[in-house]
Amino acid sequence: MATDNHRCGYVAIVGRPNVGKSTLLNHLLGQKISITSRKPQTTRHRVLGIKTEADHQIIFVDTPGLHKAAEKAINRYMNRAASAAIRDVDLVVFVVDRTAWTDEDNMVLEQIKQGSLPVILVVNKVDLLEDKSTLLPHLQLLADKADFAAILPVSALRRHNVAELEQQILKFLPVSQHFFPEEQITDRSQRFLAAEIVREKIMRQLGDELPYEITVEIEEFAMDGEVLHISALIFVERKGQKQILVGEGGLRLRSIGSDARRDMELLFDSKVMLRLWVKVKSGWSDDERALRSLGYDDI
Ligand code: GDP
Ligand code: MG
Repeated sequence: MATDNHRCGYVAIVGRPNVGKSTLLNHLLGQKISITSRKPQTTRHRVLGIKTEADHQIIFVDTPGLHKAAEKAINRYMNRAASAAIRDVDLVVFVVDRTAWTDEDNMVLEQIKQGSLPVILVVNKVDLLEDKSTLLPHLQLLADKADFAAILPVSALRRHNVAELEQQILKFLPVSQHFFPEEQITDRSQRFLAAEIVREKIMRQLGDELPYEITVEIEEFAMDGEVLHISALIFVERKGQKQILVGEGGLRLRSIGSDARRDMELLFDSKVMLRLWVKVKSGWSDDERALRSLGYDDI
């Protein structure tokens, strides 16, 4: 197989929370597999999604620290380790929200700049701009902030300019053989993704009420006829947290379950029967063995 015109590279999508990174990634990939995860990075890259088309392969990777600026922003700003996460990628896609430019955006930019990589600036959510005439002067302001390889107004939600962004990304992929088989869309197991979907829905619905330490373990993951049966065990640290998670008359857990099931059906392309259980596992986060039993064996 001739490989001279094959391209393959690592791309990081970064930006402060809520600017639309996951939405953008999902539309770039054409399917929902990006789920924010707090599992610490231990490998060279945490691959979120792989897109292989014709002669090119784009590997989108997670860069912890570069998109969670909201929490303990100052610590993160000081944390030089974060910049190591982007050292090995070929391109950074930096996402901002319309014409807003916040301190957090600035911090993300400062981190990116330490990497001296090509950066494409995506000005997202332009569908929400009421006065479109503000866009152009603003793009000019943004252009002065760094030497961006390109600046692109995008609506990830409406898929406006997403294909154009992909074309831009391709320009920066090195000539290389593909690293992953064509059919592979992520390096994470389906079980892992299922657990992450449940965790994402919990954080979405209860993020403010529940602390960090929630773990989801997939107990069953099996096709039975046309239906994929998934059972997930959710571990919390205290009884009170279990009550919050279950909610009155089980309503909250049911709502989390139906959101999660919808995403799973899209992702696994199958009807899904999802069962959720909540267990109190006191102090698990301090117990190395317990962590290991929950799949955190690489920390
Ligand atoms: P992330 O935290 O950067 O990953 O942001 P998300 O992808 O989770 O998006 C945050 C919110 O912004 C969600 O409610 C999205 O539906 C919404 N959003 C993302 N992109 C767009 C866009 O282009 N236009 C509009 N109107 N909303 C968007
Ligand atoms: Mg996200």
